[in-house]
Amino acid sequence: MAGLYHRFEGYEDLKALLEGSEEDVLGALADKPALIRIPAASTAAAPKARLIACLMHGNEPSGFQAMLEVLRRGDRFPFDLWVLIGNVRAAIQDGLYAHRHLDDQEDFNRVWDVGPATTRMRRGAAAILEELRSADLEAAIDLHNNSGRNPCYAILTQLSPEGLLLASVCADTMLHWRLRAHTLMEALAPACPTVSVECGLPHLPEGTAFASAVVHRFLAAETFAVPAADEPARPQRMLEILERVTVRPEVAFSFHAAGGQPDFVIAPGLDAYNFDVLPADHTIGHVDPGAAMPLLARDMAGRDVTDQLFRAMPDGRVIVVTDIVPVMMTTTVQQARRDCLFYTSGPLD
Ligand SMILES: [Zn+2]
Repeated sequence: MAGLYHRFEGYEDLKALLEGSEEDVLGALADKPALIRIPAASTAAAPKARLIACLMHGNEPSGFQAMLEVLRRGDRFPFDLWVLIGNVRAAIQDGLYAHRHLDDQEDFNRVWDVGPATTRMRRGAAAILEELRSADLEAAIDLHNNSGRNPCYAILTQLSPEGLLLASVCADTMLHWRLRAHTLMEALAPACPTVSVECGLPHLPEGTAFASAVVHRFLAAETFAVPAADEPARPQRMLEILERVTVRPEVAFSFHAAGGQPDFVIAPGLDAYNFDVLPADHTIGHVDPGAAMPLLARDMAGRDVTDQLFRAMPDGRVIVVTDIVPVMMTTTVQQARRDCLFYTSGPLD
């Protein structure tokens, strides 16, 4: 079997690849992830390394577009720059950026430090992780987009002074989230500070501009080390995930009333409340009068907390019973099924 991923070393190696358009680059990578190392400009001291990952989800192009710009400029840095271009197969099937992952694949951001390496994807991830773990990384970021409207924010899975500093370099808003989802950033977190950065909706020039700005700040930052005596920099706004809200699996649902006979119709435009207060008594959807609660909410310990958050009214309205701050509210049925409808958050103290 051919290699599990492409491996490029230095700009000379990348030259032919970078000549084409965005689509050409992905086409040339065909069906495999690409791991790139741009060696440090100076070899005087033993250089550290930084990693930027992108396209871990095939329908989230902002980070990849930002990284193409950087690589095309041909800049070199006082550290080794590692770049991972993730799920290329999903990014080019059925037109550009149509799939988070393909039906015959696992999610590429759920296969890091995971169980047995039974699949080509898992074997590729294991080999890439081995390379990255021996790269002497001082920091790593992973660039994503959201499927609903959200401000741009950083996700930190392990609270540490270095992690807070890295998050503050990337975004004004930070979400602390103990994912435990076998993401690349979690797998690398024992080695160096890591954050994922959500760059808003895909396919918007603002998302790519934000990703470019993050990449620029990340590459320009002098250090991510925090001396013990120092008060570390922190993002302006810090939240933590409290609960995960899903639609019960047997409930057919839709984000609009037209067509079909969904059991639950979700109120349109709720993603506008992401990172904002969705006030008590607000209607978030409708069921047939008399139908039971279509939503299920669990806290991070797995306890069912649905009754503390939502109520189905006799007239069929589904309301929130307390002020909540939703994050990552999606607007697609597929994403709501694959992950969840939204999470709730609270201030991190
Ligand atoms: Zn993503």
